[in-house]
Amino acid sequence: MPDSPSASPAARLPALFVGHGSPLNCVADNAFTRDMRRLGQELPRPRAVLVVSAHWLTSGSLVTAGEQPATIHDFYGFPQELYELRYAAPGSAELAARVGELTGGEVVADAQRGLDHAAWMVLRNMYPAADVPVLEMSLDLTLNERRHYELGRRLAPLRDEGVLLMGSGNIVHNLLRIDWNVEANPAEWAVAFDAWVEAAVRDGRHDDLIEYLRRGPQALLAAPTNDHYLPLLYSLAWQQPGEAVETVHMSFQHSTVSMRCLQIGG
Ligand code: ZN
Repeated sequence: MPDSPSASPAARLPALFVGHGSPLNCVADNAFTRDMRRLGQELPRPRAVLVVSAHWLTSGSLVTAGEQPATIHDFYGFPQELYELRYAAPGSAELAARVGELTGGEVVADAQRGLDHAAWMVLRNMYPAADVPVLEMSLDLTLNERRHYELGRRLAPLRDEGVLLMGSGNIVHNLLRIDWNVEANPAEWAVAFDAWVEAAVRDGRHDDLIEYLRRGPQALLAAPTNDHYLPLLYSLAWQQPGEAVETVHMSFQHSTVSMRCLQIGG
């Protein structure tokens, strides 16, 4: 008996990890924004997007549940035009409830929270018409790396339900050592850590990536705080056995921010 369309393997959407970088990527025209626009056109059109955001840090996991999430301008000292941008994608209380169901109630709906730039900056490039519903999920700072990965695993079935799952952070993200020139040469340690992650992802060494702090000083330089690294662990958790992972964008910005973006499956 044929499967229903939503349950067939062909209907499984890819998942993404996006390195989002500076808020200026809201309005820039560069290799990153062009690759995001291309992805938006080439990927199968999703029913909704669920973004795990490096910029929403909470005690306990939350998911946006408002039907019209506001645009949050969670950055300071940037040109005025960025603060005037709105991304008016609808939300979905129904999908937020499904996230709660899949996680046994661990992820709690938040009807008040809007979308921060880890989501809308990327999606404004991918889906400029803002006509795909968007939900954002927070990072529960009380969880360790493995618990984040395990929580991510429970969301993987959404890929078979027309939802594009996206982790939005940066593999290397050290704002203490950035060069204000966006095109500055990447730091040697930044290149080395990014390359180590890329190889481990390619080999499916998820345990090594969960325990990335074993890399020692290099890991602490790449991720002085873990908020931008953790979304990568969610994206890896969505990988199914035998699925390939492809780099769909690679650049460095400001010397110490890796913009590497990954597509899992599809
Ligand atoms: Zn960020």
